[in-house]
This record gives sequence, C-alpha cells and structure tokens, in this order.
Amino acid sequence: MVESVASADVRSPGPQSLAGQKALVTGGSSGIGRAIALALARAGADVAVNYVSGEDAARDVAAEIDRIGRRALVLKADVADEGQVQAMFRSAIGELGTLDIVVPNAGLQRDAPFAQMTLAQWQRVIDVNLTGQFLCAREAVREFLRRGPRPEVSRALGKIVCISSVHEVIPWAGHVNYAASKGGVMLLVKSLAQELAPKRVRVCSVAPGAIRTPINEAAWSTPEAYEALMKLVPYKRIGETDDIARAVVWLASDDSDYVNGTSLFVDGGMTLYPGFEDGG
Ligand code: NAD
Repeated sequence: MVESVASADVRSPGPQSLAGQKALVTGGSSGIGRAIALALARAGADVAVNYVSGEDAARDVAAEIDRIGRRALVLKADVADEGQVQAMFRSAIGELGTLDIVVPNAGLQRDAPFAQMTLAQWQRVIDVNLTGQFLCAREAVREFLRRGPRPEVSRALGKIVCISSVHEVIPWAGHVNYAASKGGVMLLVKSLAQELAPKRVRVCSVAPGAIRTPINEAAWSTPEAYEALMKLVPYKRIGETDDIARAVVWLASDDSDYVNGTSLFVDGGMTLYPGFEDGG
C-alpha cells in the first residue's frame, strides 16, 4: 500500500522530466559539459553554465539555451578555487533562486611518465578533478539543506551528478594523476551518497569511456588512432557527448529516484576487459 502511494508520486518519464528545476554545470562551455547543459535545458531546467576560459564559447551555449526557451547564466570560476566556487554558487542561487541539480564536470589532464611527472602536474589535476568536485558538491549540499524540499519539482532534496571516468576503475599508465583523481571521485560520490541519502540528496556519477571531445582529440582524430581506440571498445564506436548527456538527464530526474551512489558507466563496454573478447 505504502509502495503504491510512493510510486504514484514518481513524475512520469518524458521530455520535460526536469521542468521547473535549476541546474549548474561546471566546464559547461565545451565537450561533455556543453552537451549536458543543453540536454538539461531541453528537459526543462534553467542552467548556469560555468567556464574558466573562453567566454565566447560559454556565451554560445547560453544563447542556445535561450533558443530552447530556458534561462541561462554564464559564470566564470576556477573550480579549484574555494572563493571562486563560493562566489559562483552565490551568483547562481541569487539569479535562479536556488539549485536542484549540480553537475561537477570540469576536468583536465596533465600527462607524463611517472618518473617525469612534476608536483605541479600532479597537483593541478587533483585540484581540478577531485578538489573541484568536492568544492562544488559541498556548496550544492549546503544549498539543498538550507532550502529544503521542493516536492513540486522533484522527490529528492537535490541531485549531484559527478562526471568521473572509466579510469575510476581502469588503471592508466602515463596518467597516474588523472586516474588517482577519478578513483577519488568514485569514493567521494559513494561516501557522500551514503552520508546524505537520509536527507534525500542523491549523489551519482557518470563514468564515460572514450567520448569525442577536445580532451582526447589525439585518440580519435586520425584513422590510425581511431582504429587503435576501437580495440578498447567492444561496441566499436566512439561515444558522443549526447550519450553522456542523456545519462545525466536521467540521473538528475525522478525517473532514477531510487538510484543513489551509483557510477553509471557509459563506455560502449570499455570496462568489460575487451582483451578477452575473442576468448582471451
Ligand atoms: P573538455 O576539455 O572539452 O572539457 C573540460 C572542461 O573543463 C573545459 O570546458 C575546461 O575549460 C573546463 N575546465 C578545466 N579546468 C577548469 C577549472 N579549473 N575550472 C572550471 N572549468 C575548468 O573535455 P571533456 O571530455 O568534455 O571533459 C569533461 C569531463 O569528462 C572531464 O571531467 C573529463 O575528465 C571527463 N571525461 C571525458 C572523457 C572523454 O573521453 N572525453 C572520458 C572520461 C571522462
């Protein structure tokens, strides 16, 4: 009986599953973040688009969100800087009223063989990819708890969808800093979900495989590189940014209301040990 009452509450799946919600996407001016910002808007959310450099690209995303018919904000901040992150959240909340969905997506690589890796390369990747997600998730949680529930838009108090990587579980030689940062994101997400589930905050991540974006252009921009990449992808195609964006919209919506602390791998099977696909 209780169950049927609860399930009747779930908003029906549909194109406007995020109607009335307010979202913030970090690193929203390019690649995966851009696709996420646009998909959230198409699903009915108003969106704050964070960028750290390249204001024009961020403004292009905002203009496209306007054309979709949703409100967009463009907010400059380095996600590794506590003061800038706090100022960004103050602006987003001041302009949009609140935030229901936060997508810490900003990330970078500073690759080097381990013996040559500088402390600066190590630290920048940890600062942006891991500390940046901590800072944004913390400001999100503070706002969710301050504001309280908005049952008219969502069953959850708030949703955080971190963008991780298959390298939260696949070790990556030559990219130790990056793999360590994403492994950290995995347990940040799961520990946060465990701590905040009783408050009805949902914290999940999307862990992309190889997605066609600027961050990994060298891996797909020539036929030879693409063919080598496909050895790692059982589904035999590169991922597109919309593959990730659709997963984020689902995790941000009430359609996934009983999903918490999950890493959703969107990777064409990259985590399935493709070296064994012909029997090993
Ligand atoms: P991208 O380079 O297009 O996007 C990264 C974005 O983060 C850029 O807009 C960049 O300006 C922004 N950014 C970097 N440092 C920042 C900072 N300090 N503050 C604010 N913004 C900052 O690449 P992408 O592929 O779209 O990457 C998005 C996320 O997806 C990253 O977290 C990345 O690790 C993850 N990812 C990408 C792939 C892939 O194959 N493309 C695979 C797994 C995970």
